[in-house]
Amino acid sequence: MIRKVEDLDLRDKTVFLRVDFNIPIEQGRITETHRIESALPTIRLILDRAKRVVIASHLGRPDGKVVPKYSLRPVRDHLEQSLKQPVLLAPDCIGPEVQRIIQDPSHRVILLENLRFHKEEERNETAFSEALASLADVYVDDAFGAAHRAHASISGMARFFRQKAAGLLLHKELDHLSRLLSTPEKPFVTILGGAKVSDKIGIIKNLLPKVNALLIGGGMAYTFLKAKGMDIGKSLVEIDKVSLARELLAQATEQGVSTVLPADHVTGDSERKNPTVCMGNIPADRMGLDIGPQTVAQFSQELKQARMVLWNGPVGLFELEPYSKGSQALAQTLAAGYPDLVSVIAGGDTVAAVTAAGVAARITHLSTGGGATLEFLEGKELPGIKALEETS
Ligand code: AMP
Repeated sequence: MIRKVEDLDLRDKTVFLRVDFNIPIEQGRITETHRIESALPTIRLILDRAKRVVIASHLGRPDGKVVPKYSLRPVRDHLEQSLKQPVLLAPDCIGPEVQRIIQDPSHRVILLENLRFHKEEERNETAFSEALASLADVYVDDAFGAAHRAHASISGMARFFRQKAAGLLLHKELDHLSRLLSTPEKPFVTILGGAKVSDKIGIIKNLLPKVNALLIGGGMAYTFLKAKGMDIGKSLVEIDKVSLARELLAQATEQGVSTVLPADHVTGDSERKNPTVCMGNIPADRMGLDIGPQTVAQFSQELKQARMVLWNGPVGLFELEPYSKGSQALAQTLAAGYPDLVSVIAGGDTVAAVTAAGVAARITHLSTGGGATLEFLEGKELPGIKALEETS
């Protein structure tokens, strides 16, 4: 069982809150604030109920050294504006000076300096976990994006607390993703796309027993089409995965899952220019860069019958306008089914494609976990989730 932050008694408590503020910062300026905004509801809830909050995050890869460009100072400034109250940036994340700052009653919101300035964070060292844990009474984890890391602030320190819980963001992710895996509403359809089959093998294997239909698009589709004996021209292919693709198709058939591969393609020349639709086989000098209109219609037909959809990986080279139409059309179809259709989008590129289509508000859940989301969907146990589990 995992407790939610709302269910804890936080009166007079100092709460340690692990968040994922690993955001892009260029020349001291934050260029993308989404991860900070996403953590605000949990921070506000804690501030409404507790004595103080001690916020901790990693940023970048300083490899255990103090690297000024990876300081959380710009995050502190942004947080202070959003919360409309002072946020103190501690000079470090452990040690007597940090203890003193936290015990000073004039500070309610303290942001610890980058956890990865200490090599012990990624090594998950016990003494470091204990030093972090000594800063607070309660542990709350809202860093879903880092839940697949067995690091001190994610998995090591939780065992030193009697009270621990998931923050609002982490809990929402768990709710939506575990529903897909444990109690999917049928028909349950999965769309897989993106560049590589090798990244998706774990997901396919874990999902085959649960889904009714698997729609495969994007660059990865060409390894499957090659396995079926089609000509794929210069499209992306992983030759060493062709026989595995053949096996996966056979397993799907055995398990009664219908797999739908692209029947037509928007192809480009060797410079990805001159988009042209090709039916079936692709000429030797062209590459498949998006699903064609007939495939869009076929995929959409499956999606209209579905009650639950998981989509991971764009079905085309969506960053280039002529090859974004397939992903845009699928996003529109999912949005048209809202709210009856439960749609979950996983992975940064797919979230970007859906957002570019302007329909993000009519999608049930946009999962921002990246690696953590993929590992969860592969059925792996995430260290950050395991650390929150209580046996009662
Ligand atoms: P992934 O990280 O595996 O989900 O891959 C996402 C990337 O795959 C995006 O940058 C897409 O542009 C790219 N992609 C999708 N379809 C194709 C395709 N047919 N050919 C080349 N790249 C593609």
